[in-house]
Amino acid sequence: MAERRKFKKRFCKYCEQKVDFIDYKDLASLKFSLSERFKIMPRRLTGNCKRHQELVTVAIKRARQTALIPYIVDRKNVVENPFENVR
Ligand SMILES: [Zn+2]
Repeated sequence: MAERRKFKKRFCKYCEQKVDFIDYKDLASLKFSLSERFKIMPRRLTGNCKRHQELVTVAIKRARQTALIPYIVDRKNVVENPFENVR
């Protein structure tokens, strides 16, 4: 819910700054469209327009391939003690 509040205002950040091209190396701007677990935020939360959301998506996927952004962060559940029920 905290995330929801962060993106309350519905306008496209990139349109406002008149961005025509999103660089995959520019992580500072990509971070706006990434969740805490480095998933791509849906358009309904970020308020991006369709055109820029697509640019962001491509940029993020490219950044993942170049290992700038991790694919998966959630490892917590895997590491959890598997011997809990064993005596
Ligand atoms: Zn836009």
